Amino acid sequence: MSVKSLINQIQVYNPDSETELLERCYRFAQQAHKGQKRKSGEPYFSHCVKTAEILAELRLDTHTICAGLMHDVLEDTGITRQELQVRFGANIANLVEGVTKIGQYRPNVASATATAVITVEDRIHRKTQAETYRKLLLATAEDMRVILIKLADRLHNMETLNFLTSEKCQRIAKETLEIYAPIAHRLGIWRIMSRLEDLAFKHMHPGEYRKIAELLNQKLAEREAYCDKVVKQIRQVLEKRGIYADVHGRTKHIYSIHQKIQKGTPFNEIRDLIGLRILVKNEADCYIALGALHQRWNYHPDRLRDWIGNPKKNGYQSLHTTILDEGKTVEVQIRTYQMHKVAEDGIAAHWSYKEGVPTSAQGRSIFANYKQILEDIQETQDSPHQFVESMKLEFFQDEVYVFSPKGDLFTLPAGATVIDFAYKIHTDIGHTCVGAEVNGSIAPIRRVLENGDQVNIRTQPNAKPSRSWLSHVKTAAARNKIRHWYREKDRADALELGKKFIAAELRVSYLNARDCLNSPKLLDIAKQLNLKNLEELFIRIGNGYESATHVVNLLKPEVPEPETKTAADVETKRKSPGPAVQLENDIDLGMMRIMKCCNPIPGDQVVGYLTRGRGVSVHRSGCIRILDEPERLLAVKWTEKPPSVNGDQQPDVYPVKILVECSDRPGMLGEITTAIAQYKVNIRCGSFQPSTVHLDATASDNLTIDVTGAEQLDSVMQGILQLKGVQRVTRIS
Ligand code: MN
Repeated sequence: MSVKSLINQIQVYNPDSETELLERCYRFAQQAHKGQKRKSGEPYFSHCVKTAEILAELRLDTHTICAGLMHDVLEDTGITRQELQVRFGANIANLVEGVTKIGQYRPNVASATATAVITVEDRIHRKTQAETYRKLLLATAEDMRVILIKLADRLHNMETLNFLTSEKCQRIAKETLEIYAPIAHRLGIWRIMSRLEDLAFKHMHPGEYRKIAELLNQKLAEREAYCDKVVKQIRQVLEKRGIYADVHGRTKHIYSIHQKIQKGTPFNEIRDLIGLRILVKNEADCYIALGALHQRWNYHPDRLRDWIGNPKKNGYQSLHTTILDEGKTVEVQIRTYQMHKVAEDGIAAHWSYKEGVPTSAQGRSIFANYKQILEDIQETQDSPHQFVESMKLEFFQDEVYVFSPKGDLFTLPAGATVIDFAYKIHTDIGHTCVGAEVNGSIAPIRRVLENGDQVNIRTQPNAKPSRSWLSHVKTAAARNKIRHWYREKDRADALELGKKFIAAELRVSYLNARDCLNSPKLLDIAKQLNLKNLEELFIRIGNGYESATHVVNLLKPEVPEPETKTAADVETKRKSPGPAVQLENDIDLGMMRIMKCCNPIPGDQVVGYLTRGRGVSVHRSGCIRILDEPERLLAVKWTEKPPSVNGDQQPDVYPVKILVECSDRPGMLGEITTAIAQYKVNIRCGSFQPSTVHLDATASDNLTIDVTGAEQLDSVMQGILQLKGVQRVTRIS
């Protein structure tokens, strides 16, 4: 196509298009791709013009079409983004860059075959890809035109797919069916979606495709003759009512027939193989036409749909009815010309070819809906791979339409349950939902809703969501709301529990609870632990990440040590000298004391703290008691232990507290103690309690064990962690 005819095509709908700019872009891209050939042998530039043409068919703005012409120059020629920006402005340069980025990412759909062995590398590779893809999709949500250009590009590539190797062909076809067709569907661009689906299906399952095409062909003449007859009758009926209308037959696209067959409908029973479409001037005429048909023919009341009063999420509007004629069923769609344009072009039908954004409220709502889905999915999913999975799911899904008791219509993804519907109405209705009446009879919350169901949600004021609901919801929005509720509840529970722990600890320490809780020192401790406020501190304690004993120890006023030691003290000291630590440079600064607050044991990373007049105290590095005054810290290390005088002497041991978080199952405690015993380590004391904090049946086990040093402690902790059902092992002191 020459630049003249492209410009003519655009001028039909946009007389003010910037023809000078279009011409420059055309010549620029032509020059850039000069000498490049496609696999078909055609000049590469022909692909760029075709892409631009598809965009012009959608009546898009000049900048989009310019970017369409140049969409491959960054990728395939030496041109830089900077050059594009200088010549054609940032707007066009951004679009081209966006399309290029999407193209560089290949969603790994083809290699995900069931038989393939998935290696670790594969998995990492997929994860990065999925992450890239996620970012890209979110970025395209900022400028819809990027994805429109990509769709046009993909459509032309699909049309010329024959020239590629079959492996590459399969990959591109699969990617098209799983990613691009669903996006086109969500944006309502039926014209592109149906072509993408048929072309992809043809390449992936040529046999199936041919079979359906042949079946369609077999009785084609018969069907057409019959169709003509009904069309004539309808025209007469409408004429009598004074309605001017275009009436014609339409065919289902092959992939949609394939989908129906897959769902279990035999080919011969697919009712809308014969479909008719009536286009009229205005909305009122739609309903008059419908009335006229119903007067003349019998119809299926349960197949009557009013998408005019209740448009689909992608903006689709139409009246659907199925009439009975000589024992045959004929599906009829009635819509205005404008509605027809929307049905074919989706969001593009709402485009301002001047500003390059959706103009009408309806267009903005389609766009908002697309963005919302991306955001919902993003919020819910923790792994990027899952993100792509749910994106495919959400975009791919059919919709079901259900009614509230008042008759309001709601759209949900197919497979949605009573819970999804409850959350759709209102978050609180979801939280307190206990079931529903579906079409007048009681239904459980997990009931899957069907088209036309009338759903009355039953709630109870004290009802609460359950985690098991997560496996019965289909919408990302409901999933988010349930998760959010649990997060809040977990926080509240942990807060409560943390406060209780602290109160109990203060009681046994004979400290005044009110004074201590109001003491600024407590807030200081929280700050030192990098927590914002006391609430966060209590939650941390309640969750078992911080020990209440430890925190209360830090709160205790320092009790001065007695000035002189009794003879007995000295005697004990000599018998069990305790672990020896010395300063790094061997300077003797007097007494070195191993501190109880963090309980360092041989092998731990330690640091000395020069006290005010009481020698050096030794802490584990990172102990929050000494974080305040880095200038008083001194490097210390453990002294080499002198070899034992007599071999059979028991090694010195040091008590250490650890917290084991594990599943609350029979035998768990036994397994933990056995594991510890294997290291010939003594358990001094322990308390095992089912946790009230974690609802996934977690218990916690507080143990004090005697170890010879950090090395042994580490092996014991590793050993416990190996046990099935153990989630975490933490050293508390
Ligand atoms: Mn291309």
